[in-house]
Amino acid sequence: MAILNFVFLGPPGAGKGTQAEIIAKKHGLVKISTGDILREAVKNGTELGKLADGYMKRGELVPDEIMLGLIEEQLANIDKGFILDGFPRTVKQAEGLDELLQKKHLPLKAVILLDVPDEEIIKRLSARRVCPNCGAVYNLLYNPPKNDEICDVCGTKLVQRKDDNPETIKRRLDVYHEQTAPLIDYYQAKGLLVKVDGTGKPEQITEAIEEVIFK
Ligand code: AMP
Repeated sequence: MAILNFVFLGPPGAGKGTQAEIIAKKHGLVKISTGDILREAVKNGTELGKLADGYMKRGELVPDEIMLGLIEEQLANIDKGFILDGFPRTVKQAEGLDELLQKKHLPLKAVILLDVPDEEIIKRLSARRVCPNCGAVYNLLYNPPKNDEICDVCGTKLVQRKDDNPETIKRRLDVYHEQTAPLIDYYQAKGLLVKVDGTGKPEQITEAIEEVIFK
């Protein structure tokens, strides 16, 4: 059976979540988005949510032990190919993931780096709006809703993510460069890294990723 397990890597706002959603749906893969899982936990007030909330508000990373426990749970009963969106984010998480995947005989096919410069990230995140009801994601500059800040899917008033404010955006970018960008070398050394230009039209980026997936 073909191996279809992937990691989507890149700065916040690179389009990892958007692309993971499209590609997972189209090709029958499971999307595992740690950011979405944590936001849901915060919303529901679970133990995990209470632990994660402060870190997320500050734009910092939730501790590795918690994240590794969460991902182990997510991969426990996996029976098809998967896309990890937003995990790993530190070398320690990547090492833990390697161990876990080795134990489960689930090798990665590729790590896709969505490459977007910082200036563009700041512009994108400032214009990002999300639907608090159905989770749909919009961008007022590139992918606006049909009616002024109202969700096309369910008609709910769109909101900004709490961490999409200028101060937290800057902190998240710093954290990305300090703690997550070292994963580029980590996966390059393993021969898994494939860089995709994340600045074009969403459909072009999807095509570029599909070329990697089915290579
Ligand atoms: P995201 O939606 O991927 O931008 O994630 C939002 C926030 O959730 C991040 O800024 C972190 O606070 C937290 N988070 C998500 N994934 C991870 C991870 N793999 N490690 C640590 N923190 C994470």
